[in-house]
Amino acid sequence: MTEIIKVTGLCKSFGGVHAANNIDFSLQEGEVRGIIGPNGSGKSTFFNLLTGIYTPDEGTIIYDGHNIAGWEPHRIASHGIARTFQLLRMFTEMSVLDNLMIGCHCQVNYGALSAPFAPLTIAREEKVLREEMMDILQTIGLADYAHVTASEMSIGQRRLLALGRAIAMKPRILMLDEPAAGLSPVNVDNLMAIVMKLKDKYGLTLIIVEHILKVVMETCDRISVLDHGEKIAEGSPDEVRDDHAVIEAYLGKEMADDEVRQLLAS
Ligand code: ADP
Ligand code: MG
Repeated sequence: MTEIIKVTGLCKSFGGVHAANNIDFSLQEGEVRGIIGPNGSGKSTFFNLLTGIYTPDEGTIIYDGHNIAGWEPHRIASHGIARTFQLLRMFTEMSVLDNLMIGCHCQVNYGALSAPFAPLTIAREEKVLREEMMDILQTIGLADYAHVTASEMSIGQRRLLALGRAIAMKPRILMLDEPAAGLSPVNVDNLMAIVMKLKDKYGLTLIIVEHILKVVMETCDRISVLDHGEKIAEGSPDEVRDDHAVIEAYLGKEMADDEVRQLLAS
């Protein structure tokens, strides 16, 4: 296995709050990594630092031979780290297919074309692109909705579309921000099954930030646990579930470890 991303000494403060405090983090290619932690523990901050929404105060993020710390979000995205947003962002009056086409628009290489043949070549490229996008829609189960406008879709379907848009960017790393939020248990299971299908099909590495522990415990190879901006534990789901520091961080010290463990497992 090769290391795809390596984070060292990552720090970010807001006022006096250490939202990320000296975080080291390493990810193997092909891994499914969960990031968990109580509310306010720094999960979103970590996510935002990796995707360029926040600029780190200190630390390095080595990816693909570059230190991407402080890069603009679009530059990070175009280098292969795609994300979904907790709030669904899409063009509601466009068709599902066009929403995907727009997501990967930057990939059609108009600039390199020689002028007389450009229209033909562009048409051909768009056809190939359209086929690729239809293939993604097939995989996420939305092929029948390709020509429906996004506004006509249910929340669950929009979640899938958001996922499809991220995949359309052909990422190496896909970062999911609370993918299960607001979904019914059945829809969560469906979404995660599709996420794993996409992972296998496109050879993705996944980072899943999620407060619904069941999702992370069932899906991830390894889990990193944050508390007060620090990484307090890391390991397999079983290791993390049994880690005393995790149990304390999550639920305070009042409950017996057994009770808490049960809760983490539920
Ligand atoms: P989580 O996602 O685990 O709930 P966050 O990363 O959102 O945690 O927050 C970690 C801490 O950083 C919190 O104390 C939060 O208030 C603070 N924080 C995060 N983003 C900002 C911001 N943009 N401005 C000020 N404080 C922030
Ligand atoms: Mg958050």
